Amino acid sequence: MPLMRERDSKRLHVKSILMGESLVSESFLETLEVAPQRRLFPDVNVIKIGGQSICDRGKRALPGVVDEIVANRAAHKMLLMTGGGTRSRHIYAIGLELGMPTGVIAAFGSSVSRQNALLLATLLADHGGIEIDQDAIMKLPNYFAQGCIPVTQGMPPYDFFAIPPEKGRIPVHRTDVGTILMADLIGARSCIFVKDERGLFTDDPKKDPDAEFIDKISASELMALELDDLIIERPCLQILRNSEVLDRIQIVNGLERGALTAALAGQDVGTVITRD
Ligand code: ADP
Ligand code: MG
Repeated sequence: MPLMRERDSKRLHVKSILMGESLVSESFLETLEVAPQRRLFPDVNVIKIGGQSICDRGKRALPGVVDEIVANRAAHKMLLMTGGGTRSRHIYAIGLELGMPTGVIAAFGSSVSRQNALLLATLLADHGGIEIDQDAIMKLPNYFAQGCIPVTQGMPPYDFFAIPPEKGRIPVHRTDVGTILMADLIGARSCIFVKDERGLFTDDPKKDPDAEFIDKISASELMALELDDLIIERPCLQILRNSEVLDRIQIVNGLERGALTAALAGQDVGTVITRD
């Protein structure tokens, strides 16, 4: 970047293509050339272990998922992230009833998701499970070199700065969003959501027995369907569509033994949502 001296004040500037730009202009952003996004940790699989769907089932779901993670640890580097689940929903309901702003609701969610990260890391403790803070992400190589399985909570760190949504006051960027953002950040090998259904259906299969299973769909196609309910948080679709490093995300059933293993092996189990 060349230095530039101002003609009248003689002050020095660092000349850059962004100089004098508001960074808001649509036409400017369209013509702005950026280097292809660097993939920081392309061999790491980012895996979300559902809060309501897995962690809350305790003994009936977590040991099976933990066994499968342990069985895969020699073959795959995994960064685990956790949802908050029913306890998040409980404190959200109380907060909403008492007029809390979105940012406080989001901060509640982070603290509950952290409980589940601690829970999962503890279950994995004798296999290298450790709970890490999200800002320790650049130390991932150290953790893997030491044979660790890092676990972190899934809420993106907006907390008090959570964006108030169009409808209601529940933050739209929760632990699914945190997970896909993490995968995009590190240019992960895969982004896998472990939940309690086979994958995506045309409607919530718990409420609609006629809902049809969707094994593969692109983010744009899914957005165009405007389904009333989804198995992942809605902003994930836009994030996938805009990603330079993720080609797909996958949703598998953690209650079904072998589904996570198959996904880690690159097989199309569950639902695969592709970038267009
Ligand atoms: P997590 O605990 O992993 O965040 P959630 O409980 O928030 O998971 O979301 C998963 C649930 O979403 C499923 O258990 C399912 O009942 C529900 N769901 C809603 N809409 C759909 C859909 N279109 N397809 C599949 N599942 C859906
Ligand atoms: Mg959820």
